[in-house]
Amino acid sequence: MRKKIAVITSGGDAPGMNACVRAIVLAANRYGHQVVGFKHGYNGLIENEYKELTADSVQHIIKLGGTILKSARCEAFTTDKGLTTAVNNLTRNEIDSFIVIGGDGSLRGLDRLSKHWDGQVIGVPGTIDNDLSGTDNTIGYQTAIDTALDSIDKLRDTADAFERIFLVEVMGRHAGFIALASAVASGAEQALFPESIEDPHLELESIVQHVECLRKVKGKSSIIMVIAEHLWPGGVTDLAETLTKQIGIECRPCILGHIQRGGAPVAYDRILATKLGTYAVEIINEGQSGVMVGEINNRQCAHKLNYVYSEQKALDPYLVKIQQNIFDVVQCLNQTKTL
Ligand code: ADP
Repeated sequence: MRKKIAVITSGGDAPGMNACVRAIVLAANRYGHQVVGFKHGYNGLIENEYKELTADSVQHIIKLGGTILKSARCEAFTTDKGLTTAVNNLTRNEIDSFIVIGGDGSLRGLDRLSKHWDGQVIGVPGTIDNDLSGTDNTIGYQTAIDTALDSIDKLRDTADAFERIFLVEVMGRHAGFIALASAVASGAEQALFPESIEDPHLELESIVQHVECLRKVKGKSSIIMVIAEHLWPGGVTDLAETLTKQIGIECRPCILGHIQRGGAPVAYDRILATKLGTYAVEIINEGQSGVMVGEINNRQCAHKLNYVYSEQKALDPYLVKIQQNIFDVVQCLNQTKTL
């Protein structure tokens, strides 16, 4: 049956969203469906701002960062009035199926919409944070790691030249995926992320001890600490000041910020986006609804929306062990003492 599929990109943008829009359009065309894209996330749905998406309009966008549909937060959509307007516009435009490419907030919104609208709703994980269950990787995560890594590597050059201590803040919302991965890949001396810390203030002593220990073991040399955003009250600028006072050595903060969302998607994200966009259309053909598509162990899957945003996704425990135990100087020093 020919369907009319609507798509939005919503919330924090992620490299690979365009590749996913392209895959949805090409797969939909292949199966004889029509696709429209609402602009600026849920705002476009409320304001009825959309455009027809054809194979021509998605040509060559696979390599572009950002999103041709634009993205945004939308306070109005969280209200009953906004939700009603969105539902009315879906009905008025005779949309059969609605695909949302976004993060946990966008998929929460989609789940709420599904309780008030009879059409099919499908989520696609598009966020650099990788904080959604039901998929090993979210679209954009691998590119964000590479972007953070590129900056940290550059920071290492200058840190090394001046034998400086740098505290680098990376994104991740309330999860440590980017912090852990970029710390391991850059050979950072320390990584602090929410999953490893209960109360940051209680941890100050151990952070100080860690830096002092590093100086003892390595002598005067560069130290890079990767820290997840929202972890330290006041951010890395505050932590750098506090540490400087405590250890008497200047610590410099560096906030990577929004550059982590930009750039051309790496091959992994283009391929993942292509698979998940196509799979979203294929499960529409099967009549599924209320799920997010994902990929686990290289196999496509679909999980209920309320599972993907409410179940906390765990970091790779082996990577955590390597970073926090095997490669940790304090642990090494303690172990050497007891040998
Ligand atoms: P992300 O999708 O990247 O996590 P946000 O958390 O900002 O980004 O969510 C994007 C948009 O999704 C919000 O601006 C809002 O319109 C919608 N949204 C988020 N949470 C909810 C919710 N609990 N109910 C309804 N809509 C929501």
